[in-house]
Amino acid sequence: GNDGVPGRVRVAVRLRPRNAEETVADADFADCVELQTELKRLKLRKNNWDSDTYEFDEVFTESASQKRVYEVVAKPVVESVLDGYNGTVMAYGQTGTGKTFTLGRLGDEDTSSRGIMVRSMEDILADVSLESDSVSVSYLQLYMETIQDLLDPANDNISIVEDPKTGDVSLPGATLVQIRDQQSFTELLRWGEAHRVAANTKLNTESSRSHAILMIHVKRSVVGREEDLSSEINHASHLIKPSKPLVRKSKLVVVDLAGSEGHMLEEAKSINLSLSALGKCINALAENSAHVPLRDSKLTRLLRDSFGGTARTSLIVTIGPSPRHRGETASTILFGQRAM
Ligand code: ADP
Ligand code: MG
Repeated sequence: GNDGVPGRVRVAVRLRPRNAEETVADADFADCVELQTELKRLKLRKNNWDSDTYEFDEVFTESASQKRVYEVVAKPVVESVLDGYNGTVMAYGQTGTGKTFTLGRLGDEDTSSRGIMVRSMEDILADVSLESDSVSVSYLQLYMETIQDLLDPANDNISIVEDPKTGDVSLPGATLVQIRDQQSFTELLRWGEAHRVAANTKLNTESSRSHAILMIHVKRSVVGREEDLSSEINHASHLIKPSKPLVRKSKLVVVDLAGSEGHMLEEAKSINLSLSALGKCINALAENSAHVPLRDSKLTRLLRDSFGGTARTSLIVTIGPSPRHRGETASTILFGQRAM
């Protein structure tokens, strides 16, 4: 456990329910995992009589609500972004285990199903004052170490720029859309997702192999506090100083990672270079290593200022219950364990 410690990754695991096919085809077989929510433990079955036990910061059963997952996994990160720190929320897991369900669900049909992206924006818009603050969004896809703008798909080779002095990361070529209300944000997510599907159809690629990256930039004016302070000084010294507006910038990065299946295999390494590099950085952070190799891939370069250090990071690993995917489930669990 690393409650409340910035710079370390909080790791939760979420089990999705059996789908219709698994319910029928695997009816005679037990799930490959068993969760002990009170103990925050997961048991992975080895055979009929033995299992391995793993501990996480939080475990979510198939009946955990979207609301609770948001509150535990993302809300502390959103709150620290509103306080001026950068933060990252990521979902890792095999394709079909619920990464997009957890992060990207829009909840049009049923508001209780809204995912982390939508709920984060709701909390951000509720806290900022749009007269003095601003909220803007970029939405990107990273595939084979190329970054494409999901809000302007023709823009398919976006570069990452790092400020050598501050270490701040920016994407000067990416579309940045100001958000004034929740509805325009969900429209933008819908639009980005449609572009993602279209781009992958055109390139004949699978979206399961790409990472979807949402960046929410928050700029807050802290002029109020400065004025209070300077008026006291002015009063005391009878000097009139112009009050200098201070702007505090922070961002929330939400990453729907590429499907983790086979990512340990050699041929997958070039396709998923970013995923391997992320794994290395997560391990280095967990081990308190002096060197976190953030420069080794596009994804980790992009996360350089929102990962470790003063930034708050949450990782949710998603798994399915099917005994057929026990191998993939085991490696997903190990990825999460290495982050702790
Ligand atoms: P991924 O993005 O990891 O490939 P998805 O989010 O697309 O997986 O989920 C695959 C399917 O499982 C979808 O039909 C989704 O609605 C369903 N699903 C995923 N997680 C849950 C959950 N916790 N509860 C109910 N259905 C889920
Ligand atoms: Mg998905």
